[in-house]
Amino acid sequence: MNRFELARATSPAQARELLAEKPGSVYKAGGIDLLDRLKEHLVEPPRVVDLKTIPGLDRITVEGDGGLRIGTLATLAKVAAHEGINRTHPALARACAEAASPQIRNLATLGGNLLQRPRCWYFRLESYKCVKKGGDTCFAIAGENRYHVLFGGGPAYPPHPSNAAVPLVAYGATFVLDTPKGVRTVPAGEFFVLPAKDPTRENVLEPGEVLTEIRVPSAAGWRSAYLEARERAAFDWPLVAVAVAVKAEGGVVKDARVVLGQVATIPWRSAPAEKALLGKPLGAASAEAAGKAAVLGAEPMTDNGYKVDLVTTLVRRAVVSLA
Ligand SMILES: Cc1cc2nc3c(=O)[nH]c(=O)nc-3n(C[C@H](O)[C@H](O)[C@H](O)COP(=O)(O)OP(=O)(O)OC[C@H]3O[C@@H](n4cnc5c(N)ncnc54)[C@H](O)[C@@H]3O)c2cc1C
Repeated sequence: MNRFELARATSPAQARELLAEKPGSVYKAGGIDLLDRLKEHLVEPPRVVDLKTIPGLDRITVEGDGGLRIGTLATLAKVAAHEGINRTHPALARACAEAASPQIRNLATLGGNLLQRPRCWYFRLESYKCVKKGGDTCFAIAGENRYHVLFGGGPAYPPHPSNAAVPLVAYGATFVLDTPKGVRTVPAGEFFVLPAKDPTRENVLEPGEVLTEIRVPSAAGWRSAYLEARERAAFDWPLVAVAVAVKAEGGVVKDARVVLGQVATIPWRSAPAEKALLGKPLGAASAEAAGKAAVLGAEPMTDNGYKVDLVTTLVRRAVVSLA
């Protein structure tokens, strides 16, 4: 790892100034993802700007209507343990509780989790100049792709790595960014971008902008669940994750959001699965139909076809758990 200077920010505006002073500098929250990339020389910043020293940016507030305002420096452990979030937005609490390991959850922040870079081993290794690093090849296509995507690939194929992003898209959250021109807000469903748009980035965050807050609307009248499948219980990412949120009246689904994680380059909202639920009684039959619909259009690579069955099963189980 190259030497760098550490600067501690006390406000988002000061963080932006500290970053702009030395081109190539980067922000650090918990530092979990950043440290990996520093060690592998994927980033070689002259300065690391610490955001964790900004007071109050880890606050979690439950609003009068039951909506949430979550400061992006809140740790995954804090979100997972929050009583109000567990009661009203259980899919978010569960996604944070399942991520990584207890040690990592105590340090990693919600903002950093959403902004972590993909885990593709070719991207993570200094020696591969892949398409995500400005090269012209995605080595996963002809190489080791058992953890890669079923949807939204091309020209790069790594799965979006964030657990928290999956339920946040399902809940229709909004991301709040501190920018030189003031505050801008972006719906979670529009924050993450496909590699076809620009393979070197995963979201619409512009250089220097600070992600300060996640606003999650009230989930009154909704039921929601998050499920995932893993090879091992900790120190790893899921193979597949699923968040389902439904609004039912008289047992019939009036609104539904089905979002898939770890199978697409962005948190993947499954329109066919949502359609399979709409207007149907919430139960075993609609769960089965939604599970099957969720994999329509899937394009498995050479070694990741097993993810198709995992998606089908997890969507079905998630819907059944809500029925
Ligand atoms: C062994 C292991 C297993 C893991 N398993 C999982 C898992 O199951 N699920 C999962 O979701 N994740 C998993 N992770 C990833 C881990 O959760 C993330 O690396 C962590 O959440 C990142 O948060 P952080 O605060 O440490 O971010 P940092 O490393 O500090 O930052 C990440 C990136 O975001 C930028 N950044 C951070 N905060 C802001 C902000 N507020 N505004 C603008 N830019 C910002 C930084 O510049 C950096 O580029 C795992 C990690 C490890 C090492």
